[in-house]
Amino acid sequence: MDGHGRAGPPGDPGGGGLGSGGELAGEPGGGRGLAGEPGGGGGLAGEPGGGRDPFGELRALAGDCVHCGFCLPVCPTYQLWGEEMDSPRGRIHLMTQVLDGAELSDATAEHLDRCLGCMACVPACPSGVQYNRLIEAARTWVEDPGERPGAHDAEDGGYSRTLRGRAARAAIFSVFPHPRRLRLLTGPLRAAQRMGLDELIRRSSLPGRVSPELEAALRLAPPRPGRVPRLPALVPARGQRRAVVGMLTGCVQGVFFPRVNTATARVLAAEGCDVIIPTGQGCCGALSLHAGRRSEAVRLAKRTIAMFERAGVAAVVVNSAGCGSAMKEYGQLLAGDPDWAARAEAMAGQVRDFAEFLAELTGEPAGAGGTAGAAGTVGTGGTADGGARDGGSGPVAPRHPLPVRAVYHDACHLGHAQGIKAQPRALLRAIPGLELAETGDGGVCCGSAGVYNLLQPQTARELGVRKAATIEATGAELLISANPGCSLQIATALAARGVSMPVAHTAQVLDASIRGLPVSSLTRPAR
Ligand code: SF4
Ligand code: SF4
Repeated sequence: MDGHGRAGPPGDPGGGGLGSGGELAGEPGGGRGLAGEPGGGGGLAGEPGGGRDPFGELRALAGDCVHCGFCLPVCPTYQLWGEEMDSPRGRIHLMTQVLDGAELSDATAEHLDRCLGCMACVPACPSGVQYNRLIEAARTWVEDPGERPGAHDAEDGGYSRTLRGRAARAAIFSVFPHPRRLRLLTGPLRAAQRMGLDELIRRSSLPGRVSPELEAALRLAPPRPGRVPRLPALVPARGQRRAVVGMLTGCVQGVFFPRVNTATARVLAAEGCDVIIPTGQGCCGALSLHAGRRSEAVRLAKRTIAMFERAGVAAVVVNSAGCGSAMKEYGQLLAGDPDWAARAEAMAGQVRDFAEFLAELTGEPAGAGGTAGAAGTVGTGGTADGGARDGGSGPVAPRHPLPVRAVYHDACHLGHAQGIKAQPRALLRAIPGLELAETGDGGVCCGSAGVYNLLQPQTARELGVRKAATIEATGAELLISANPGCSLQIATALAARGVSMPVAHTAQVLDASIRGLPVSSLTRPAR
């Protein structure tokens, strides 16, 4: 690294051999647990001794980094600015300094805030550094003062967000994780859209002058989804039942993309699943967890776990990448809580992404060879205990042709965080007539990243512009994305280029094929 913090070539500073000092990340039950206090989980604060890392777990996790720099080329913020401190290696260095007692300065907090949490660095790291756990912990230092009694605060010279920054976060988190409030917000939004006021406001420079966050929210606001019938508590399997699953409806997904949930339930039912959809669902905690609001995430996780326990399902299918990724981390989140640790671990083991579950159930090539069975399968020899013993028995619902050239976008929390790339592609390629194009950007983040596009609108916009250009270059007529945030972000970026490309979820494409609908049902969906 030079004196300005710019990085040298990967592998330059610190040297370090491949694999030295590292443990493989993401092994079930493996890795170092961030033991925490009852009720809080995470072990960042509240234990005897207080402070940010009383048991040294975070230092140990950071110590796995051998400074090789292999993560640098895949990091979107490093790609944008070429700054070492905006790379995974640089951020780990900053975290280590703070753990060693350095003040959490404004500059350090800004470098941590600029991280998208896209996790592209995790699979790229040959040493298995669990950056996801490090950044989630580090975010709590600036976000969740209740979790860091030993940390500095503004009164003793430490970091404190600006009033505007705090207000923006407070506004976002008082609405987004609450489906009812989010739904209430869609009322005025729809009225404004009907009158064309949204366009008028968007074109004026007023929102940007008042608040870039507000301007970003207006820019990203989706068109009204129209009337969609509520899903019943049970969508029964068509034909012979081969699984019983729960389904998460999600907050952003449920409010802005209700048709995705309808399609998910229909596809699962068509493939022989009883789909149980608990009523009164709330947020799973993903947005809070990824933003460092750990105590909020813990509360929402416990609520979600209890809800699906009451539903009595052995598998929970999730169609939103960010939600699935967070729910698979429940075990880590609640590891230090004796009343919840086992329940959280059990729930994490039952969570399956929609494409992951379906590929396992139907034995698509990517699913048949997977590491985990389709939890909840009750087919031949199945015991609903998490094992697809028969390795999938093929799709039972015929696929009808969908002649369309589509491009599949890897949501970061599906591709990088959950390692699910092959399954959705295999499911889509099995549809007759569907031609699947690939972006040429290696799956770099689109800039959505939870609420990042609201909190860091300029950076998000730059990444959105890049993503839209690569997607347009594929010549596809349809974009397929499995995360509501990505769908909104990319659709907005494409529209800004004057490109009108419809966006659909993997479940909607499969649903259209199974029902024998024309391509126009996806490219010109009903409002
Ligand atoms: S999570 Fe993404 S943005 Fe953050 S350091 Fe890793 S690659 Fe870079
Ligand atoms: S995080 Fe991994 S890839 Fe990046 S510098 Fe450290 S050891 Fe190398």
